[in-house]
Amino acid sequence: MEKNRPLAFRIVTLGCKTNQSESDEISAILAGSGLINTGIDNACDSISGTSEHIGSNVSSRISNACDYIIINTCTVTGTTDGKVRQAIRAARKSAPHSTIIVTGCYTVFNAKALKDLGADYIFTNSEKEKLAGFILKDTKNIFQGVPSSERSRAFIKIQDGCGQRCSYCIVPMVRGSYKSTEPEKVIEKINYFVSHGFEEAVLTGIHAGKYGVDFTDNAGGCNSLSGLIKKILENTGIRRIRLSSIEVNEIDNDLINIISGSNKRVAKHLHIPLQSGSNKILSAMNRKYDAGFFNETVKAVKEKIPSITLTTDIIVGFPGETDQDFEMTMSMLENIGFSKTHVFKYSQRQGTAAASMKGQVDERIKKDRSRIARGAADKLRKEFILSNKGVIQETVFEEFNEKLQIASGTSENYLKVYFKPQAQNKDIIKKGKILNIMADAPYREGLFGTII
Ligand code: SF4
Repeated sequence: MEKNRPLAFRIVTLGCKTNQSESDEISAILAGSGLINTGIDNACDSISGTSEHIGSNVSSRISNACDYIIINTCTVTGTTDGKVRQAIRAARKSAPHSTIIVTGCYTVFNAKALKDLGADYIFTNSEKEKLAGFILKDTKNIFQGVPSSERSRAFIKIQDGCGQRCSYCIVPMVRGSYKSTEPEKVIEKINYFVSHGFEEAVLTGIHAGKYGVDFTDNAGGCNSLSGLIKKILENTGIRRIRLSSIEVNEIDNDLINIISGSNKRVAKHLHIPLQSGSNKILSAMNRKYDAGFFNETVKAVKEKIPSITLTTDIIVGFPGETDQDFEMTMSMLENIGFSKTHVFKYSQRQGTAAASMKGQVDERIKKDRSRIARGAADKLRKEFILSNKGVIQETVFEEFNEKLQIASGTSENYLKVYFKPQAQNKDIIKKGKILNIMADAPYREGLFGTII
């Protein structure tokens, strides 16, 4: 390691928004203790289904100047496992003298393999909270850092774990059962981010709709997601909250009323995983609803919040899925009109019930269905983008592209919005701030507009 400079670290994050918020927390503690943050790489997002070529990304950004490389892993699919291994190999190759610490879901089943790949230390999910303290040679584990300069929206982890056991999902085995963050801690974190200029907080959790089920008392009325949101609205100055995801059977009247009556402080955007439109497949997946219930709930939400934006996930090629089952999923996508759909091609995950089910679907058919579903999702997305032309978008400013001199951010309804900052705007343009943009032209995967 080089001498005469503060220690430096880099975090590579794979997987869901909960992992991202945990990486932010580690980063905040380390940076707040004087270490240099050389960056956070969100190398793969299993929820959004993006698939960057992680190895080249990691190796181009990492060098021995990072004393500590933290790789926060995911194990949601076999493909993700490959990306984790690729990331560790790439990090070891680019920074042979750095200390590589691997944490997250992949560590649960693969500790030995990680050492062979080049990891120096391994922290399982339950040990993750101690990781920053280990680097600081300090047993304290308190939230005391500065927010990561890499982000413009505060990712707040409100919950961990899941007890549902969907038949395709390994998460309950690697994350354990429900564990909610105490409401006071959530409030403290949000207020902390607000004091650093953040205007949007994303509430993340492995199963956020189960917030509070593990509390032994009613936690001052906060033993439910709705209760927590009410408390946040009353006790923080955050301008906008967004829920990262919610199961359809956890949307109740309380939640709908809070969103509709919050005066835009809760984004009118719900990500509700559908997974399949076939009752036979939903039952085999061990999902806790059927297609009729999903449709009825969405109808009720749309009636009470007409401007709601709905996004979803679907899995195609689940064991036993016939052409007819797949068609049912496609019909639901069209009829509900999701503005964004993440399409996952089912892949067998060892250790899950679905991996040994009869009726595994041929890879070629899965590919075909995935292509068709992505095509339908893209068409709906384009229609949604065009329907927002000429509408003022309240957009949180996230990035500035120096080369193009174009800024971009995310709107309340989860659109990517681009704009060119002008000299007269320089005082109002700060990362994390929500700006009103008159978006009037399609641009890339979103809309282009001007600050008003
Ligand atoms: S609800 Fe189902 S898919 Fe989501 S984490 Fe739990 S088991 Fe996995």
